[in-house]
Amino acid sequence: MANVKTVRLILGDQLDERHFWFQKPDDSVLVVLMEVRQETDYVKHHLQKVAAFFAAMRAFARRLSEKGHRVLYLKIDDPENRQRFAENLAKIMKESRAQRFEYLAPDEYRLDRELRQIAEGLAVPARMHDTAHFYTGRDDLAKMAAGKKRFLMESFYRKMRKAHHVLMEGNTPAGGKWNYDAENRGAYDGKTPIPKPLLFDNRVSDVLEAIDASGAATFGRIEGDRLIWPVSRRQSLSLLSDFTKKRLPHFGTYQDAMVDGRWSLFHSRLSFSLNTKMLHPKEVIDAALDTWHSQKAEIGIEQVEGFVRQVLGWREYMRGIYWQLMPELARMNFFGHTARLPDYYWTGQTNMACMADAIGQSLDRAYAHHIQRLMVTGNFALLAGVDPDEVDRWYLGVYIDAVEWVEKPNTRAMSQWADGGIVATKPYVSSARYIDRMSDYCGGCRYDKNDRSGDRACPFNSLYWDFFARHRDKLSKNPRIGMMVRTWDRMKPAEKEKTLARAAGLKRDLDGL
Ligand SMILES: Cc1cc2nc3c(=O)[nH]c(=O)nc-3n(C[C@H](O)[C@H](O)[C@H](O)COP(=O)(O)OP(=O)(O)OC[C@H]3O[C@@H](n4cnc5c(N)ncnc54)[C@H](O)[C@@H]3O)c2cc1C
Ligand code: SF4
Repeated sequence: MANVKTVRLILGDQLDERHFWFQKPDDSVLVVLMEVRQETDYVKHHLQKVAAFFAAMRAFARRLSEKGHRVLYLKIDDPENRQRFAENLAKIMKESRAQRFEYLAPDEYRLDRELRQIAEGLAVPARMHDTAHFYTGRDDLAKMAAGKKRFLMESFYRKMRKAHHVLMEGNTPAGGKWNYDAENRGAYDGKTPIPKPLLFDNRVSDVLEAIDASGAATFGRIEGDRLIWPVSRRQSLSLLSDFTKKRLPHFGTYQDAMVDGRWSLFHSRLSFSLNTKMLHPKEVIDAALDTWHSQKAEIGIEQVEGFVRQVLGWREYMRGIYWQLMPELARMNFFGHTARLPDYYWTGQTNMACMADAIGQSLDRAYAHHIQRLMVTGNFALLAGVDPDEVDRWYLGVYIDAVEWVEKPNTRAMSQWADGGIVATKPYVSSARYIDRMSDYCGGCRYDKNDRSGDRACPFNSLYWDFFARHRDKLSKNPRIGMMVRTWDRMKPAEKEKTLARAAGLKRDLDGL
């Protein structure tokens, strides 16, 4: 490690080869990447998630070396690896005799605090640089929300559209409307051909062996040694191009649709590439807009606006919420829920057809799309009164794209309403009626979608009314959902009693559903 002046640390979700650090090689700079048990062990992760992060980090390190950068890469099973950032960095700083330490702003609160501490403890100067990845700074949303009782996504999104001139015609929104959400709620029509998902053939036996040798515990499945997720910028760009060509034309219409066995439908599956920074959100939005501009006759504005809203709106908004509410967000539990997460979240073995499909594909692919996460698995956990800590741990472990800054506000705030309504004006709960409208699950289910109190009554129905009965004090004044409390109040006493008895039975044996 002769002549190293500066050590630069890259985290596993900072794989942006276009960052200014990598404009030209500098022999006095040592770029360090490390696979550490500290990161595999803070929750139990899906095997594909760990493998994808490591495979992408390895590919990134190789690419930097090819471009002439000096790279030190610590693999998870390397005997020299001390398995924690602090210990590894102390050793590298000592052995290299570097005179500076630099790192990129971590997106996770935990690592932000830790790296700040490490930097302060070094005998040499240290500096944190921006990742230059997001449209907004960490604290921008908090500033915009200052003094306001509530600052919802829609207000933030409109500001973003204006500030970045996205889908704007002068000062007005393209097409005359800010939001085409009403046109984004179609159930699948059964006719529009669903394009085959683009799957990569990344052989990762070396990564899998290293994970195994390290003793890191994982869950979920992988097909042999084949990783289907993109592990490089080149593959990420192919996925982006596949999306704009084949899926964008129907993305908005079927954004909320669910079809049994069709795991990705018209979704982009770009979240892993975005969250590891192999792709920049601006290039993703620009690619969608370019396609729309060149094919306006075939692609309606509601398709492209639906996509822009997710990336420019929700993604940036959730990041702002994370930094505004952490660390309190991690402890919020508005409803005081305490139940255990049922076992089938880890096995997929349940008679509820919707849950079996959403969980099964999560275990097979480390992926479920937004409505499966929100209105099936998240909805069920909320209705069943599961402790948000347990729900959070599952979502943070299971998905390929799960990094805490985006997972936690989505899970804890949006899906479990543990924030009591900062992000969403009402809890996202539904009975079988919504799931049946948006999917084909109920037809093949053992439970009866139309019943709420009998032996075969759909658990979502019984637990839905039980939820309103037990949280009536917290919900009756909610302008958007209080009417459901009043509907419950008006139900005949005998029907109420039967429904609550059925719900109590279900809650006693949640694992048996
Ligand atoms: C309970 C729950 C947990 C979630 N956990 C995560 C997570 O850990 N990581 C994650 O990236 N997303 C998370 N989401 C948001 C969303 O479900 C995923 O971003 C999306 O399903 C990823 O698949 P896709 O790339 O095919 O998305 P698409 O449907 O193709 O959407 C395009 C892009 O928009 C962005 N996006 C869409 N919805 C959201 C949202 N609500 N918040 C932030 N970005 C959004 C994503 O970057 C996504 O890649 C969660 C949602 C819920 C309800
Ligand atoms: S009947 Fe209930 S449990 Fe079965 S698929 Fe429909 S919503 Fe899910």
